Amino acid sequence: MRAMNYRGPYRVRVDEKAMPRIEHPRDAVVKVTRSCICGSDLHLYHGMVPDTRVGQTFGHEFCGIVEEVGPEVENLKAGDHVLVPFNIACGQCHFCKQGLFGNCHESNPQATAVGGIFGYSHTAGGYDGGQAEYARVPYADFGPTIIPDWMDPDDAVLLTDVVPTGYQAAEMAGIQKGDTVVVFGAGPVGILAARSAWLFGAGRVIVIDHIDYRLESVKSFAPAEVYNFKELDDVVVFMKKTTDGLGADVCIDAVGAEATGSMLQTILGKRLKLEAGSAIALHWAINSVKKGGVVSIVGVYGPTGNMVPIGNVVNKGLTIRANQASVKRLLPKLIEHVRTGNINPKAIISHRVPLDDIADAYHIFSDKLDECIKPVLLPSG
Ligand code: NAD
Ligand code: ZN
Repeated sequence: MRAMNYRGPYRVRVDEKAMPRIEHPRDAVVKVTRSCICGSDLHLYHGMVPDTRVGQTFGHEFCGIVEEVGPEVENLKAGDHVLVPFNIACGQCHFCKQGLFGNCHESNPQATAVGGIFGYSHTAGGYDGGQAEYARVPYADFGPTIIPDWMDPDDAVLLTDVVPTGYQAAEMAGIQKGDTVVVFGAGPVGILAARSAWLFGAGRVIVIDHIDYRLESVKSFAPAEVYNFKELDDVVVFMKKTTDGLGADVCIDAVGAEATGSMLQTILGKRLKLEAGSAIALHWAINSVKKGGVVSIVGVYGPTGNMVPIGNVVNKGLTIRANQASVKRLLPKLIEHVRTGNINPKAIISHRVPLDDIADAYHIFSDKLDECIKPVLLPSG
């Protein structure tokens, strides 16, 4: 089969690879019809995630058609159309029993933090992902969800990650009616966090980025005041001013490791195309939120983080909440939000790309060219 093949930072291509097969009675093999590239894949692509091995196939946001199931998978059969949550979760361990499907112990027992994730380095279990014609799906009796007949597959594929992630960012923030919510990052996750903030009762939503076309596009998803941080003298001072000197009730970090780029590029000897000012999204979040406020982090960071101003967290009495999204837990609610039109995920798709053009798709998405917001690969048509 054709599959994405990681060759090293900034180098991806498509090669022939062995077809995945059932390796465990709870496995399924899925023929991939849609597979997105995520901001999280960019951390891999930029060489920022430890133990990312040459030869791995990325891709943790995919949907498709069940090809084959193992003997213990009774809820699925060949021909079913499924969306596959990015978390690989057994559904039965200590953490899964609490609904923490992003922290499953069984799927990544060596790790101290994250559970298994498709195509996300050996720190997330070393599983191959879905930027390929076929993917092996472990714990298929638990994770994959049948796509309702009425649902567009373009919506379904976005329910595997960015919709639940944006939604969970707003949920973790504990938004109260009328709250002022600031979202850092106007990528797919930030856009969906801004949309979700309204669903949780926000009274005002402010979105910060430095890419104007992305800031513009936020407005078609959610009423939001948008600001290019390059045009603000000082983001934190501005936030104080615009909130009567108090600070925002909630800040959401939907940026993550991209903001550590300028520090890491020294270590990696790699030129990341980042502005100097982009090194501080989490600092801005912590310093812009009011005393006693909540900072909700869904941006993904490497294991060491980046000099977080922890003293301010203590002295302001902040609540920090963070996690990988727990996709399976949120799906029933989100499917309903899509059905009723409260969330229109597919509107964020900006590019539809054949699998063989994957190198271009990564390049365009990474460098924010051609007004790219969310590229979707079409491995099997
Ligand atoms: P993306 O790269 O498309 O978007 C990130 C945006 O942040 C870009 O538009 C960029 O211009 C902007 N940005 C950079 N520095 C900034 C700063 N200092 N202030 C404000 N904006 C800044 O990525 P995405 O797909 O939207 O994902 C966003 C983050 O969420 C990534 O870190 C990704 O890894 C993470 N993520 C987490 C989960 C989870 O489960 N927790 C799931 C999916 C994605
Ligand atoms: Zn993702």
